[in-house]
Amino acid sequence: MEKKYTIKYDRKKCIGAGTCAKIAPETWKIDKEGLAVKKKSSFTKKDYGKNVKAAKSCPVFAIEIYDEDGKKIV
Ligand code: SF4
Repeated sequence: MEKKYTIKYDRKKCIGAGTCAKIAPETWKIDKEGLAVKKKSSFTKKDYGKNVKAAKSCPVFAIEIYDEDGKKIV
């Protein structure tokens, strides 16, 4: 089985900087309120780079990524 990574998002922290949606548009979009919405809750190895980069780009640390063992990556 392919490894899966879980995305956690705290919308209360989001300030609408938008970098997540720019880097990983298949995972994030900006809604009418100007805040990020998660389009998926997990991803596999092939989308690892983009999703980790998007999470790291968030200036307010609203995005966290965990591996299958629950270990925090971002
Ligand atoms: S990068 Fe962070 S603050 Fe900016 S829109 Fe995405 S979740 Fe919100």
